[in-house]
Amino acid sequence: MLYRDAGTTGESLSLQGLGCMRFTSHAGIIDQAKAETVLSRALERGINYFDTAYTYPGNEACLGRFLAKGNRGRMLVATKLPHYQCASSADFDRIFDEELARLQTDHVDFYLMHMITSLTSWQRVREMGVEDWIARQRTSGRIRHVGFSFHGGIADFKQVVDAYPWEFCQIQLNYLDAHAQAGLEGLRYASGRGLPVIVMEPLRGGRLAVGLPEGARRAFAAVDPGLSPAGWGLQWLFDQPEVTCVLSGMNEVSQVDENCDLASRVAAGSLSSEQLSAYDAAIEAIRAVERVGCTGCGYCMPCPHGVDIPSCFRAWNAAASDGWVRGFSDYVMTTSLKAQPANAGRCVSCGRCARRCPQHIAIPQELARVRKGFEGIPYKAVMRFKGLKFKV
Ligand code: SF4
Ligand code: SF4
Repeated sequence: MLYRDAGTTGESLSLQGLGCMRFTSHAGIIDQAKAETVLSRALERGINYFDTAYTYPGNEACLGRFLAKGNRGRMLVATKLPHYQCASSADFDRIFDEELARLQTDHVDFYLMHMITSLTSWQRVREMGVEDWIARQRTSGRIRHVGFSFHGGIADFKQVVDAYPWEFCQIQLNYLDAHAQAGLEGLRYASGRGLPVIVMEPLRGGRLAVGLPEGARRAFAAVDPGLSPAGWGLQWLFDQPEVTCVLSGMNEVSQVDENCDLASRVAAGSLSSEQLSAYDAAIEAIRAVERVGCTGCGYCMPCPHGVDIPSCFRAWNAAASDGWVRGFSDYVMTTSLKAQPANAGRCVSCGRCARRCPQHIAIPQELARVRKGFEGIPYKAVMRFKGLKFKV
């Protein structure tokens, strides 16, 4: 296993981390024995970073049962504060106490503000007194390092990075989404300010592991037929020198072994030009089957009416490739759970953006499809819920 230094935390993180969110479950109940088999193998193979969250059903408790079997000292545990479920600092205490009890531990190594989407969402948590609360937890030793996980655009990401002395951050990144959300630009920005960067969704929720278009599989197989599509996805991230740790949800020992083999040999900057060209060909093949050929370049932005055009199209494409629920969830998180909504329904068809699009996308017409596809009854229900809790 290769390890990378995690900045001011003083920790050395395994390049491959274990995202616990995807443990195998039956009828909503996690298969504890299977999860522990995977966790044990991960430890044997040198993984030391384990990520969970308050809002992943049964997840912290599952991890806690494993920690309690004499494993706590060998594992760096990351979990998250669902600030969007909090109305005051009393909720921070209530939730964090519950997390420690579930995890059967007296401290969390890496604690994240979960799902920060903009500077406004961070300011809302701040106004509830989270900075003093963090200071108290640090003094008592209950939290060792503080960071945030992010879903939003690059401008917001940079503002959040600069708004607090974070010790690490977590972003979504993979070869297909190099220019979406924080993207490569955000990775380099954070790293340039000394922040270790943990990567989530390296395989886009499995989309880059299974169901790749034939053209993409051929592009990879022509260069290295022995490496799986998942391996191709992971090694692109291992090759990035600014990445500290890549989270992957593994629920089979064979997956742990495959990922750890790769994380033991792919050093930063080690991919050949031939390998890098294979990604370009694969991306082209994937884009060819997408609903909207948006590359996420952002030349169409800003929209005077606040629409986040690339995020709308990204979610719309995800709905086609990965299923409606995934696309919808992406859509709501990146365009609507914000103080300034940026959803497709805000478009007034002025046409200004379309003139700047190098892909010649008929943006207003495509946004109308996005609105029709996403902004129905479930969307309105989520927005009503937002009115109660998601004041971000
Ligand atoms: S057409 Fe719609 S998305 Fe484009 S600039 Fe006008 S209002 Fe914004
Ligand atoms: S300019 Fe076109 S390709 Fe670029 S983000 Fe906007 S819609 Fe997508």
